Amino acid sequence: MKSLWSDTDAQNTVESYAPQGVNADLALRVYTTRLLGGDPALVLHGGGNTSVKTAVTDLSGADTDVLCVKGSGWDMATIEPPGLPAVRLEGLRVLEDRDALSDEDMVALQRQNLIDPKAPNPSIETLLHAFLPHRFVDHTHANAIVTLTDQPDGEDICRDLFGERAVVVPWVIPGFELAKFCSDAWRAHSGIEGLILSMHGIFTFGETARDAYELMIDMVSMAEARLDDGARPFLQVKLPADVASVAQVAPIIRGAIAVPANDARDTQRFILHHRTGDTIRHYVDGADLGDYGTRGPITPDHVLRTKRLHLVVPPPGIGDLDGFAENLRGAVDTYVADYRAWFEANNARVGGDKTMLDPMPRVVLVPGVGLFAAGKSAGDAAAAADLAEATAEVVTVAEAYGRFTPLDGEALFDIEYWSLEQAKLNKTSEKPLQRRIVAVTGGAGGIGLETARAFKAEGAEVALIDLPGEALEQAASDTGAFAAAGDVTETGSLEAAFNAIAETFGGLDILVSNAGAAWQGDIGDVDEEVMRTSFELNFWGHQRAAQAAVRIMQAQGTGGALIFNVTKQAVNPGPGLGPYGIPKAATMALMRQYALEYGAHGITSNAVNADRIRSGLLTGDMIASRSQARGLSEQDYMGGNLLHREVEARDVARAFVHLALSRATTGAVLTVDGGNVAAMMR
Ligand SMILES: [Zn+2]
Repeated sequence: MKSLWSDTDAQNTVESYAPQGVNADLALRVYTTRLLGGDPALVLHGGGNTSVKTAVTDLSGADTDVLCVKGSGWDMATIEPPGLPAVRLEGLRVLEDRDALSDEDMVALQRQNLIDPKAPNPSIETLLHAFLPHRFVDHTHANAIVTLTDQPDGEDICRDLFGERAVVVPWVIPGFELAKFCSDAWRAHSGIEGLILSMHGIFTFGETARDAYELMIDMVSMAEARLDDGARPFLQVKLPADVASVAQVAPIIRGAIAVPANDARDTQRFILHHRTGDTIRHYVDGADLGDYGTRGPITPDHVLRTKRLHLVVPPPGIGDLDGFAENLRGAVDTYVADYRAWFEANNARVGGDKTMLDPMPRVVLVPGVGLFAAGKSAGDAAAAADLAEATAEVVTVAEAYGRFTPLDGEALFDIEYWSLEQAKLNKTSEKPLQRRIVAVTGGAGGIGLETARAFKAEGAEVALIDLPGEALEQAASDTGAFAAAGDVTETGSLEAAFNAIAETFGGLDILVSNAGAAWQGDIGDVDEEVMRTSFELNFWGHQRAAQAAVRIMQAQGTGGALIFNVTKQAVNPGPGLGPYGIPKAATMALMRQYALEYGAHGITSNAVNADRIRSGLLTGDMIASRSQARGLSEQDYMGGNLLHREVEARDVARAFVHLALSRATTGAVLTVDGGNVAAMMR
């Protein structure tokens, strides 16, 4: 590990923040915090924090000594000055005289001492920073330190390695007690340059930003030098010749770890993130994965994202996916029963007032395929995957060095069921479609874009399916959706798009089958080729998408929703529009057939009958010519309905969302046309 310190970059950072009134101390604090945060071997997802002791002018105009310490919710790699809120130093230091302080009181006192009352909560490790006298204090959860301290004699190894330079502190839960422990350690050995926190990480400190940072790099490098990071210690398992693909396995896992409910619509799903690579495969393909892979987390705070134990399952063969699914469900049942027993035993120990969290695993290790991590959003799942990948790296090196021996038992319960975490439970409400995955065909068009926005607003993960190219990429980047390139008129191409969605999010809950285009011709002499081309898109495109969707939904076994975009022509045909309306009428029948055959699987099937929407099908030129032909203004033409208002793409998008949320509606058509008696369903 090399120091990335650059005098030029440091100076540039100071100069760039000076106009905003940020002093040099804080600017340099931002600079080295980012250097530390940018290295995943040092810091992952909240696993670290930094501080500087400086002076600021408070709201009353007085100069005040403060601790600027990392605030919760900020990522060290991208931190800005507001991510290091200033806390009155004196208000924190007086707490050192206390014998005990609850986490709730500690958080309240930290907030009470904030210079800016709107600032984020200062880190849970704030008091540790405050009690040390050094101006710059750096803290990371460096993999190499965790690897060494996860050995049976880890503390001795570190004492031997760092000698007089650091004090080794045993595991103590972060908060007031750990802060006291560390400040006592420093008082007893005031020449030290750092603290090694067993199974947790490392603190280094100095008078300048550069000193504290370079001590961190130096001491972590010493730990790395003890280890062999090219190690490949695991005997590999023999895999089946036909290992299943990520797209085949992911929906089965996603269904198996969904938390069941009485009404399938209330099933609590997860978004999955798949991860693989040389180190991960060596780890998950190890013959003894069931041993080293299930001893516990490399550092206790992982339990908040990954639970105490990862789930290990046998390798899936393509020829026996049903057998894999059955084994997996059995493994999940055992995991849940063990979790419940673990919770009950520990809850009794602490007084019985904790609320049990969902018992599902967050990391599933699949030989031959890699690891899957689960979260309540794609971002959460990716964060859990980062921790799981770090676990594979650390355990591999730890097992090559000696024996991976993590903390287990009560300490892990105390972290997962931390009072501050429990207090968040009732405050965080999820959006109605959070944890759901929706695919939208014709995703790059006007209705597709509005549909992506509408589903995103309800919390869903959105995948846009459309022909590969600039329009799709642009639509995805405009809406924050995933671009799944595929052609609904080509079975192989469309399947590839659905596979990409399953690989990215773990499965699918909602299909908005929206791709379409209009063809015209008098029915008595229209070219057969025109009819066939229209059928290919306006009927077969829907059937292909629906087939691919129900295949994934059935692998999950948690229901789903199919929503088809049909047209007024399917209900109320117009002259010359047969080539468009007839396949759409067939699609309406298709919708009903899916409702009939998949209702028992909890899959609803409905349609939206939209009319006269400005889009690729009804362009500005067409609107101009049609309104002119009828002697109407464009406004009167577009608003020629019972409500006298133009129907917009976002009205259609809202109807899709409505049907996705609807619990007891299947086989129905929802009309979105502003009111047209001739097109009313009967
Ligand atoms: Zn920490």
